Amino acid sequence: MALPTHIELQIVTPDRMIVQEQVDEVEIPGSEGYLGVLPGHTPLLASLTVGELWYRKGQDKVYLSIAFGFAEVLPDRVTILARIAERAEDIDPARADAALQRARERVAHVAGEVDYDRARVALMKSLTRLQVSARVPGGARVGELKRARDAGRG
Ligand code: ATP
Repeated sequence: MALPTHIELQIVTPDRMIVQEQVDEVEIPGSEGYLGVLPGHTPLLASLTVGELWYRKGQDKVYLSIAFGFAEVLPDRVTILARIAERAEDIDPARADAALQRARERVAHVAGEVDYDRARVALMKSLTRLQVSARVPGGARVGELKRARDAGRG
């Protein structure tokens, strides 16, 4: 049987369909690490973490911020059922930056393990949103993102 030449990509959240497109390549933020998918990939199921997802159509790459859910990979189809997904242009960098400041405060003053996990997730979501938003003109500026990352480390 001939190998597929494209991937039918669907990205769905509980609220809506975010992407339904024929693409050439997808990179998925799997909980075991980033997963690169080309047409003809071996079937698999993966859980998602918080991170950047991108897909490529020809020379063009499109970036999204993703948090949790599942990915089903088939040779000619990738389905992403994400708890949260945002396209770069839909991200409000000022809101993400405010969330980052709150998360940094919480990480610094957590009482227990559960609190720490929640604060860490909030930190990852805000950093991912800033990173993805910086991919589009007029989104978060790279310098701001770098400062946010450096501050998050301190
Ligand atoms: P915040 O503290 O700013 O509300 P959050 O991480 O608690 O952020 P989530 O619970 O992850 O927010 O998301 C709730 C909803 O708000 C989702 O629909 C998500 O897409 C949207 N959202 C969160 N942050 C942003 C942002 N910076 N820009 C655009 N949409 C956002």
